[in-house]
Amino acid sequence: MLTVIASLMLAACGGQAKESAQAESSGPHGQAAPKVEFSADSAYSYVERQVAFGPRVPNTDAHRKAGDWLASELRRHGAAVKEQKMTLTAFDGTKLQARNVFGSFNPQAGERLLLVAHWDCRPWADADPDPEKRTLPVDGANDGASGVSVLLETARLLGSNSPAMGVDILFVDAEDWGTDGDEDSWALGARHFVENPVVEGYLPSSVIVLDMVGGTDARFPREYFSQQSAPALLGRFYAAAAASGYADMFPDEMGGAVTDDHLQFIKAGIPAIDIIDYRDGFHPAWHTSGDTMDCIDRKTLKAVGQTLINFLFPPEN
Ligand SMILES: [Zn+2]
Repeated sequence: MLTVIASLMLAACGGQAKESAQAESSGPHGQAAPKVEFSADSAYSYVERQVAFGPRVPNTDAHRKAGDWLASELRRHGAAVKEQKMTLTAFDGTKLQARNVFGSFNPQAGERLLLVAHWDCRPWADADPDPEKRTLPVDGANDGASGVSVLLETARLLGSNSPAMGVDILFVDAEDWGTDGDEDSWALGARHFVENPVVEGYLPSSVIVLDMVGGTDARFPREYFSQQSAPALLGRFYAAAAASGYADMFPDEMGGAVTDDHLQFIKAGIPAIDIIDYRDGFHPAWHTSGDTMDCIDRKTLKAVGQTLINFLFPPEN
């Protein structure tokens, strides 16, 4: 049973919009130049910024401050922001003061693509090789912050480039306060979002979840439930990865079956895919004290982020 979520964001002190949003260079391996350039440096700094709050574990000050910052970043990039604040009950009875942060771009568009990452951190590094560290919270640089950071950089680009469809970004809380053997203990924030529409009648036509998308030596084979739920959407995403020069990191093969936020949407009948690093399991630092900036690689953030941006803004040739 695997669960992962990533949400991070980090802005270089509000001034990270230095790069032109327009592509100036060709892509890797001589690919067509992207229409819109995803900045790995901006995404990386968004990871750093989240980690600097401390572990974003519900009911902590770091969590409250990071939640406020996420909402303000989306607003700064021009999104119409709504927040869901709710009390969720974890499997162990803990009442979690939780928050989902939702931002809309091009809100008039009928067809809506929802991009999701979890922004909370696991409260315990229970996979740590050192038993003494297993009760400590996880920094969540990859598991949490990486997905958020790719979506914050995407939000920055959506602020100055209009996609054809409506795009919404959702940072879900309380993904990672779960326990092995109880599938329903994970993804509490995503479940709340599905059961309580943030805007009346809101229904995305499809969902892309990013989780653990910044790790060193990452690989993104097709996740099993994603393939079952939305083979066409998944195929288009992998085609965008290959056309962007990232076929090595996005091999066209099946990976694991992962319990993650996407399942909450799939259960509600909404096509959803999970883009998640999976080798013979997750990144070695998963749910350990090692999930720090040391396991973040700009190349991975770039591959996932540029693929997503090229999916939203297809290069012309
Ligand atoms: Zn996790």
